[in-house]
Formats: sequence, C-alpha cells, structure tokens
Amino acid sequence: MTEQGQPDEHSDEQPEGEEREAISRAWSDLVATARRTVTDGLVVGTSGNVSVRVPGRAGDIVLVTPSGVHYDRLTAADAVGVRLDGRQVLGELTPTSELPMHLAIHRTTDAVAVVHTHAVHATAVSTLVDELPLIHYMTAALGGPVRVAPYALYGTGELAAHMLRALEDRTGCLLRNHGAVTYGSSLDQAFDRTAQLEWMCRLWLTAGSVPGRTPNLLSEAQLREVAEKLRGYGQPSR
Ligand code: 13P
Ligand code: ZN
Repeated sequence: MTEQGQPDEHSDEQPEGEEREAISRAWSDLVATARRTVTDGLVVGTSGNVSVRVPGRAGDIVLVTPSGVHYDRLTAADAVGVRLDGRQVLGELTPTSELPMHLAIHRTTDAVAVVHTHAVHATAVSTLVDELPLIHYMTAALGGPVRVAPYALYGTGELAAHMLRALEDRTGCLLRNHGAVTYGSSLDQAFDRTAQLEWMCRLWLTAGSVPGRTPNLLSEAQLREVAEKLRGYGQPSR
C-alpha cells in the first residue's frame, strides 16, 4: 500500500503470471456468485457480500466484493483483494464492511469461499429463535442445528466473534436481525449452502404458519443418522 492508503501497483506483492490468471478467474467467479445472490432473490441492492481465497506466492489473497457497489457494475478491473490480516493488496475500491466476518472464517477454517446474504426467510427466523428447529434432514448437511448469532452492529469485530461461535462445527449460521452466512470449499458450495439454509428457513416458517397445527421436528438421533448417510450421498468418487 502507498502512504495514501491505495494499493501499490509496483510493490512485489502484485501477482504475476499464473497467479494473476488464477486471481482473474476467481474474481470473475466471485462476481458471478454475487450476481446470483441478487437474481435468486437472496439479496436486495448492495446488501450481502462474497469472498474467495486464492493461494499465492507471497501468501493467500482473499478476494472480496467492494462495499456498497451494485454487483452488475463490477468489471474485471475492479478486483479487490486483501491479506488474511486485512491489508489491501489489490484494487482501489473499499472492501466490504463485513471484512471482519469474512477474514474470521478464512483465518480459522478451511473455507475457500464465504457467502453472506440478507435472505428474507433466514432473516425472519433470526428474529424468532436461537436455533433453527430440526424441520428437515438437510440440517445435517450444514453440520447440525443451525444457530443464531446474537445481534451486533454490522461490520464490527463483535459481530464476527458472535458469528464464529455460532459457526462452531457448522458451515452456516444466522445473524440476529441481519441475515445468514455460509462457507464452503468452493463458491458454488458456499452459495448452495446459503440457498439450502434459506429454503429450510422458509420451510419452517411455512409449516409453522398453519393455524392449529405444529410441525413435527426431527430428533438429534435422527439427524446423526442422516449425517452418517450423507457421507455416501451422490455418485461414488472415481
Ligand atoms: P457491504 O456493501 O459493505 O458489503 O455491506 C453489506 C452488508 O451486508 C453489511 O452487513
Ligand atoms: Zn449484511
């Protein structure tokens, strides 16, 4: 970085060759994922943010969406990248205000990508309970019952700390009166987990809104059984 706080284009931290290409590809995938959060109705306007971690010679770079910029305006030239300590080494736009949340996950887990949205059903559930009730077996795909992190001001280290506790042994959580966060080993996996979590929140709200009826919930033992079976889900690895 220069003294003006702008990334120094001439520093030896500027990626070159294959690393530069990997970053361009990851940025284009990140922008596509961020746009999907809007087109799939998980986010309105510039709410939410996405990050992806790219390995590099001088240390990993975490690419993040810039703060307050509509995703359809982002071009290949707008890539924003920071080190795990938050130092900006790529791009001129200000990184997402939720950098503390994204970096907390990248520092403490094996996540490659993180997706944060204000999806409506997830946010509604975050105001009602401390944990999403066991309404569906796909809860097991997120590591167990999805917790709600206590409220804290957006963009703060306090919110990031609450989120990390809620994420213990999980790949997703809700943020009280705010939204949802999921992570995964790819942008697609992090996105799919967000979509799955939003779907389960919608399911619980829908089933719970039938007058005079209370939804049946799964037991912890049933969930453990699912977790075991999910290990062999899908096609055998070749
Ligand atoms: P940014 O535009 O700074 O990413 O903020 C959106 C948001 O979701 C804050 O919680
Ligand atoms: Zn948010």
